[in-house]
Amino acid sequence: MQRYFVKYQNEIIIFNEQDVFHIQKVMRNKVGDEIQVVFDSKAYLVAIDSISPLGVHIVNPILDDSELPHDLVLFFPLTKSDKCELVIQKATEIGVTKIYFYKANRSVVKLDNEGFNKKQERYIKIAKEASEQCHRLIIPSIEGVLSIKDIKDHLCDLNLVAYELDAGKTSSFYDELDKSNKDVSFIVGPEGGFELEEINYLCDIGFKRVSLGKRILRMETAAIYGLSVIASNMEK
Ligand code: SAH
Repeated sequence: MQRYFVKYQNEIIIFNEQDVFHIQKVMRNKVGDEIQVVFDSKAYLVAIDSISPLGVHIVNPILDDSELPHDLVLFFPLTKSDKCELVIQKATEIGVTKIYFYKANRSVVKLDNEGFNKKQERYIKIAKEASEQCHRLIIPSIEGVLSIKDIKDHLCDLNLVAYELDAGKTSSFYDELDKSNKDVSFIVGPEGGFELEEINYLCDIGFKRVSLGKRILRMETAAIYGLSVIASNMEK
């Protein structure tokens, strides 16, 4: 069943313009149809009372909790928009709570904060739609652009860095996760890989190096692979 993130003001459920269009013209919903809405991190089954203007009333709360038990944060290097969009969508489905974009020395794309701000709205929309599609209770926040030094202000209980030079060397990923029952952050490097200076800095501020197996993955695959393993471990 279709789910929408809405605002709830003065006991009225308010849909954004695009969702109104979606309900009226794409789904072609009728009076009496039921849909799901989420506000304040809680989901509700609602019934449609009128189509234009759109009006609904709450039938009952939906109690299923689709969120991971702990925060999961991704630090992802700024790169071309299509890759950023793919990672936002997939990371949202996996259950990430926050995505921070950061500037890596060997990033192919060098975007400043202003350039990022122009894209941020679209990125937030992708996260919202992915959250609706997979029935989450929150929309992950999408923020940027951090310098590698700023990362220390956003650390979790456990912080993991995927380092390509560790590829296939250890089983440290599972070892680190097995020790943890807590919030986790995960960082992957850019297309050109991490510079040693960056890895050393991340380790100095508390990151643990992990391998993602013997194959060198593209940065977007590395993000999706790593987050999947962490999320699966959180839910086991
Ligand atoms: N161009 C580099 C690889 C960069 S891959 C090279 O050829 O060596 C992009 C990022 O994905 C890396 O910085 C790392 O964070 C992650 N990554 C990819 N494969 C990995 C692996 N097998 N183990 C750990 N990290 C990996």
